[in-house]
Amino acid sequence: MANYSTEGIIIKVRDFIEADKIVKILSKDKGIFEAIAKGAKKLTSRKSSNIEFLNSGKFLLATGKNLHILLEVKLEDDYQSRINPNDINYFFYFAEVVDKTLVETDKRLYQKIKSLRKFFPQNIKQTLLALQLLLLSNLGVIPNLKNCLKCDSFLDKNRYVVPNQIGYFCKKHGGDFHEISDREIKIQLFFLSNNSDITQKINVDKEYKFLLELHNSWIENTIERKINSYKLLEL
Ligand SMILES: [Zn+2]
Repeated sequence: MANYSTEGIIIKVRDFIEADKIVKILSKDKGIFEAIAKGAKKLTSRKSSNIEFLNSGKFLLATGKNLHILLEVKLEDDYQSRINPNDINYFFYFAEVVDKTLVETDKRLYQKIKSLRKFFPQNIKQTLLALQLLLLSNLGVIPNLKNCLKCDSFLDKNRYVVPNQIGYFCKKHGGDFHEISDREIKIQLFFLSNNSDITQKINVDKEYKFLLELHNSWIENTIERKINSYKLLEL
């Protein structure tokens, strides 16, 4: 067995046989992988308190036959303690949508997710919108938001949202459906082209609920799975 270490963020923790847990790690330079944390459920385990979703740090691992084995965790910060317990469902959503959407990662994507995670406790709305758009871009499905999906005509105003379609339609092809506001479009475009240290300053109070719902439906349609924690969000 060869040992190696990597920096990463825990995106999922689940119970396994006996006192063990399976931990899913989004890492800076080794992709996304699962590792077994032996004895993690025992209260005496030193590792146990560090193994919480969204915690980040340095992980020392051994390459096992089937699963990597987590030998040691060095927490970078005590992230969990900064989460307001009333907001916990938003953090579940963050972790679940990352877990279900990403199949691989690279350094750039890792840094972007880590940066969003940093702003998250203070700016929940902006962070979730930015995360959804980042993941949709990464899935390769982020639409051309400026042209009608049907006829490709340029949409300078009057864009319509057609259920189960990722993108917008002109009045002729989508006029029976919901019209998205100019401000909502502007927010999407702004979030897609700016880093999280800038987007967190934008006021999205009015547009947040509609956009979060829309993006979540785009994500679920693309991955053909439900994000279970979405319905727990109090919007
Ligand atoms: Zn059209």
